Amino acid sequence: MTVLLMTDLEGISGVDSIEQMEGEGYVYACRRLEADTNAAIAGCFDGGATRVLVLDGHSTGINFDPKNIDPRAELPGKAWQDEVRSGNVDLMMEVGIHAMPGTMNGFLDHTQSSVQWFEYTINGRPCGEVAQGALFAGEFGVPFVMVSGDVAACEEAREFLGNDIATAVVKRGIGRNKAECIPNDEAEKLIYEAAKKGMTLKDKVKPFKMIYPLEVKLVHTRTDYCDATMERHPEFDRIDARTARFTVDRIRNYGDIMFW
Ligand SMILES: [Zn+2]
Repeated sequence: MTVLLMTDLEGISGVDSIEQMEGEGYVYACRRLEADTNAAIAGCFDGGATRVLVLDGHSTGINFDPKNIDPRAELPGKAWQDEVRSGNVDLMMEVGIHAMPGTMNGFLDHTQSSVQWFEYTINGRPCGEVAQGALFAGEFGVPFVMVSGDVAACEEAREFLGNDIATAVVKRGIGRNKAECIPNDEAEKLIYEAAKKGMTLKDKVKPFKMIYPLEVKLVHTRTDYCDATMERHPEFDRIDARTARFTVDRIRNYGDIMFW
């Protein structure tokens, strides 16, 4: 059984303030990212995984130090999408998730850009990054079975993926920019157990799908951001001053549902 383990930073244990996305706090956040990732990797292998592919998913994807990641795991880098497309991946999991923009007490809630993206919808449903990852994996028959993050993000994951998924709640958002974390060692234990449980959910959790063609829409926070999107993608429809839209017949690449 092969697991694709995505990672993000906002929902990592011990990360309790927006300040930790930069500077000294960021270095600590990255050490915590490694700890949560290793806890999940251990849970996967103890649950019967034969391969665990880890993707550093926050920002530009250079957050954890590969030397600090459990050497049993593989780091496929850009090849991760090929692994999914070629049917090599059985399960998807993610540590460190965050909620979509506009979530009450969602710690650092956003979808891709907290500055530019106000509301991102697919087929009229507001979506966050959990839905995006789940849709890509789901297209290739891979169920998204486990997440870790704050209360709001884990709730969002259950809303999209169902109550059977394994979740590790490691903190509670207090407004947007602060959180109250559980102790780090407890968080790692929860993540380990959730990943191990995730290994048993292949037949219980269905691959996530939405009805094609997908209508993907983005309300930007400002009109000039929408101008820039339309300059990059003249093929998109401009709905109004802040809103751009396109449709997707079938997802082949993760980027197919993005406004990059
Ligand atoms: Zn992130």
